[in-house]
Amino acid sequence: MYRPQNILALPELSVDRYPLVEKLRAFLEEGFSKRIAGLYEAGEFPGEFAKGLGGLGVLEQVLTGDDPVLEGQIFRELERVDSGLRSFVSVQCALAGNAISSYGSSEQKKRWLPGLISGESIGSFALTEPQGGSDPANMLTIVTEKSGKLLLGGHKFWVTNGTLADVMVVWAKFKGKIQGLLVSARAPGVVVKPIENKLSLRVSKSAEVVFQDVEVAESDFLPGASSLGKALACLNRARLGISWGVLGAMEDCIEAAVEFSKSRILFEKPLASFQLTQDKIYQMVRGLSSAQLLAVQLTKLKTAGELQPYQVSLGKQNNVEAALQAARSAREIMGGIGVLAESKVMRHACNLETVKTYEGTSEIHKLVVGMKITGSNAFK
Ligand SMILES: Cc1cc2nc3c(=O)[nH]c(=O)nc-3n(C[C@H](O)[C@H](O)[C@H](O)COP(=O)(O)OP(=O)(O)OC[C@H]3O[C@@H](n4cnc5c(N)ncnc54)[C@H](O)[C@@H]3O)c2cc1C
Repeated sequence: MYRPQNILALPELSVDRYPLVEKLRAFLEEGFSKRIAGLYEAGEFPGEFAKGLGGLGVLEQVLTGDDPVLEGQIFRELERVDSGLRSFVSVQCALAGNAISSYGSSEQKKRWLPGLISGESIGSFALTEPQGGSDPANMLTIVTEKSGKLLLGGHKFWVTNGTLADVMVVWAKFKGKIQGLLVSARAPGVVVKPIENKLSLRVSKSAEVVFQDVEVAESDFLPGASSLGKALACLNRARLGISWGVLGAMEDCIEAAVEFSKSRILFEKPLASFQLTQDKIYQMVRGLSSAQLLAVQLTKLKTAGELQPYQVSLGKQNNVEAALQAARSAREIMGGIGVLAESKVMRHACNLETVKTYEGTSEIHKLVVGMKITGSNAFK
C-alpha cells in the first residue's frame, strides 16, 4: 500500500537513518500502541513509560538537544501514538530538563539531570496561572523575604506531569523580576491537586499546584533564569518539538482514513474511489506535506543557529491547525466508526485541541507573526 507519510521524499523524514527512532517505534508498538485507547479512557499515564524511554536513551537525546532532526523524529514517533506521551517528553526534557541544563548551577545539574535522563525522576514546568496563561508577565506567584527567610506563595495551573513530578521548575516574581527556581514537589507547603476532568490529553497528568509559604533558598534559584525571556526560550525549544510531533498524529489519522476508505464499500464501490473522498484525502496530504516542509526548514534554521521565535510561532500554529484539520477530516471519512476509541482519530482530534492551546495559543502565535510583519504590537 502507498503510505502518505513522505510524499515529498524528504530525507529528514526517513526513519531508517536513525536506529534510535526505529528502537523507539518498536518500544511503542510493543508496549503502548494497543493499550493507548484504554489508557486514554481511564485517564492513566503508563507508570513504566519514563524509565523505558530512559533505558532506550530517548530522554538523554532530547534533553541534550544535540541533533534537532533526531529530536523531531522522536517527537513524531511519540505523537503518532498519543499527544499525551509526547507531552510527557516535551515537559520532562525540552522544558524542565532544558531549563536546568541551560540555566542551572553545576550542583543543580548534578542533582537533577541524571534522574531526568534515566526517567527515575520526573520534571514539570510551572508557568501558567489561573488568571490567564497567554499573559504570563501578569503572574502573581512571588518569593518574599520574611524574618530572614525566603517564602514562595502562589498558585500555578495546568502543570503537565504535575502529579508525577519530583522537581518543578517554577516561575515566580522576586524583587520585581521574574525568576525561575527549583522546588521539590514534596516540600512542606506544596499542595498538588490533580485536574481530573479533561476531555483531551487524558493520558497526560495535569495538576494545579498551590504554594503556601514554601521555604526556598537562593541556591534553589536557577542562576541563569532571571527573566520571563528565559522561560519563553524553553517554550520555543518545545514548540519546535510540537511542530514535529503533530506530524505523527497527522500521519496516523491519514493512514487510518485512507485504509478505511479503501475497504468501505458504499454504493457498490470503495469509498476511496469517490471524488469528494479523494479531495478530503488530498487536502490532508497537502496539509501534511506543507507541515513537514515547515518542520524541516525550522530545524535547518535551528542547526544553523538562525532560528527566530516568530518562525517557531509560524510553525507551531500552522502545523497544529493542519493536524487538527486532518484529524477532523479523517473522523468524517470514517463516519460513525470514527467516534469510537479504537479508531484513534477522535482521540487525536481531542488531544490536538489542547496542543492548539498550550505552549502559546493559535491566536498568540498569529499575533507574534503579525507583529513581525506589520511592526505593530497587538499585545500593548
Ligand atoms: C492540558 C494542558 C496542559 C498544559 N501544560 C502546561 C504546563 O506544563 N505548564 C504551563 O505553564 N502551562 C501549561 N498549560 C497552560 C497553557 O499554556 C495555557 O492554557 C495557554 O497558555 C492559554 O492560557 P489560558 O488557558 O489561561 O487561556 P487565556 O490566556 O485565558 O486565553 C483565552 C483565549 O483568549 C485568547 N487570547 C488571549 N490573548 C488574546 C489577544 N491578545 N487577542 C485575541 N485573543 C486572545 C487565547 O488565544 C484563548 O483563545 C497547559 C494547558 C493545558 C490545557
